Amino acid sequence: MLPFKLVYSDDYYLPIGAHVFPAEKYRRTRDRLLATAVAEASDFVTPRPASDQDVLLVHTPQYVHKLKTGTLSAREELELEIPYSPELVRAFWLAAGGSILAAEYAFENRVAINIGGGFHHAFPDHGEGFCMIHDVAVAIRRLQHDGKITRAMTVDCDVHQGNGTAAIFAGTHIATGPLPSTSSSALIPAGPGRSRSTHSADVFTISLHQENNYPAWKPPSSIDVDLPDGIGDDDYLAWLDNALSSGLRQFDPELICYVAGADPYREDQLGGLSLTIEGLKRRDQLVFRVAHARDIPVMVTFAGGYARRVQDTVTIHCNTVIAAKEIFAA
Ligand SMILES: [Zn+2]
Repeated sequence: MLPFKLVYSDDYYLPIGAHVFPAEKYRRTRDRLLATAVAEASDFVTPRPASDQDVLLVHTPQYVHKLKTGTLSAREELELEIPYSPELVRAFWLAAGGSILAAEYAFENRVAINIGGGFHHAFPDHGEGFCMIHDVAVAIRRLQHDGKITRAMTVDCDVHQGNGTAAIFAGTHIATGPLPSTSSSALIPAGPGRSRSTHSADVFTISLHQENNYPAWKPPSSIDVDLPDGIGDDDYLAWLDNALSSGLRQFDPELICYVAGADPYREDQLGGLSLTIEGLKRRDQLVFRVAHARDIPVMVTFAGGYARRVQDTVTIHCNTVIAAKEIFAA
């Protein structure tokens, strides 16, 4: 038995037809975890959909109304890049409920993994890039609303910048003392890449992503690490280590929301970085080791993953669970 919970439902499946997004990856990840005895059936918990009230903590009433009534404009549906249907709305509400449940379980077991979610391109008033609503933001706002946390940190390692996350949490400042200087250039790893650190808020957002990729417009996260094309395991891990250290010097989160995208993989169809499957597992281990050492609960979502072979995406997602098992069972 795992020392933490996996949140999963067969209804995470996104009814989007033939698409570069492998909608079956959630079920295949669950099946592989069971078949390889990484997890057993009792490790899985089933979420309920988020309520409309939960979703409205992040999204505008106008946008939620359009989704519930099927009245997106043609342009809005195009921007979403997945075909609208009422079933799709239900799948996204369920993913958001799954991220809420995972965040709650993270406080019981120090870590919890949603075998889904990570829809970091959704904005308050529109969806884009396969993301209808922002499940991670909904979970954070719900826990804040319930008084369970004040401060959260997102650590987004999807190959694409977390533009929705940055936009949602920009400018929501809380009263704090002055922040320590972040200009310590000696801490920037050698090699190519660029790190920008900007604002403080009640949610501190970190995004490591390929600069030369979607989204074209990247609203500022608290820390953005703009990585050059083709960066490999060692440079990537150095940047991640640096971003985590820098973020945790500036900010003291009560919850880390780790967006464990599988698309920095070197064989990803929508990514241009060169991480190996082993490198991606080391990435997961690094995030978990830091959270574990500082005793900060961590909630995980899966986000993107478009490997030419779907089984590679499944392997990368399964490895995230294995990495958590290694770190948190110790
Ligand atoms: Zn992505």
